[in-house]
Amino acid sequence: MIRFEGVGKQYPGGNEALRGLDLHIEPGEMVFVTGPSGAGKSTFLRLIPLLERPSRGRVLIDGADLGGLPGHRIPYLRRRVGMIFQDHRLLDDRNVFDNVALPLIIAGRGRDDIGRRVRAALDKVGLLHKEHALPVTLSGGEQQRVGIARAVVTRPPILIADEPTGNLDPALSQEIMQLFEQFNQVGVTTVIASHDLSLIESLGYRRIHLEAGRLAWG
Ligand code: ADP
Ligand code: ADP
Repeated sequence: MIRFEGVGKQYPGGNEALRGLDLHIEPGEMVFVTGPSGAGKSTFLRLIPLLERPSRGRVLIDGADLGGLPGHRIPYLRRRVGMIFQDHRLLDDRNVFDNVALPLIIAGRGRDDIGRRVRAALDKVGLLHKEHALPVTLSGGEQQRVGIARAVVTRPPILIADEPTGNLDPALSQEIMQLFEQFNQVGVTTVIASHDLSLIESLGYRRIHLEAGRLAWG
């Protein structure tokens, strides 16, 4: 489903974030990406929805080389890859419903469809009763749930999350991971970068371990 072939990434300015990365993530897999700070975890994730482009090698999704994707197809790719960030990146001046609706509005969906899908996504993360709330009135764990609802509202086959529990205590982190497991169990390929080794080990999924831009193991 996601294949990296000899992928190198050099940022302007010289930092070599990834070096000759070869790996494959199967459809429906749940995997964690680990490694020290600066190992290339964020860069690895950002190549999947083409937020960055590789300097060398190829990234393929469902067998298609992203290097050959025409510019007008990028929005379509990004709807197929739900993204979750540590700082959740919600819009503070819009309520929960409007934040979750955003990807559907951008995709040009109709009002009834948007209402139905947003409520279904909020129901999945247990926040249906908060649809009118502003993000600042929510707890950190609730804000992250809204971020997850926004990421899944277009029903993407792939979810990527960059340190999604980085700001949360252990109990909330575990709840957030259980949500990812629920989406994974209905077939969503899920890739999570995390530092939370004790939580990752307790869950027992495959780990892709990066060091200095290379695959150390996994
Ligand atoms: P991680 O997520 O494992 O901490 P990153 O992918 O963020 O690793 O970073 C890998 C390397 O690339 C680091 O040396 C980092 O400083 C560098 N880097 C990341 N983003 C940029 C950027 N936009 N411009 C220049 N260098 C970057
Ligand atoms: P609906 O078909 O009305 O959207 P579902 O109960 O099937 O209702 O899904 C509810 C919401 O849960 C979806 O809108 C989506 O946000 C999320 N969801 C469910 N299944 C998936 C999936 N396979 N991939 C991604 N998101 C999903």
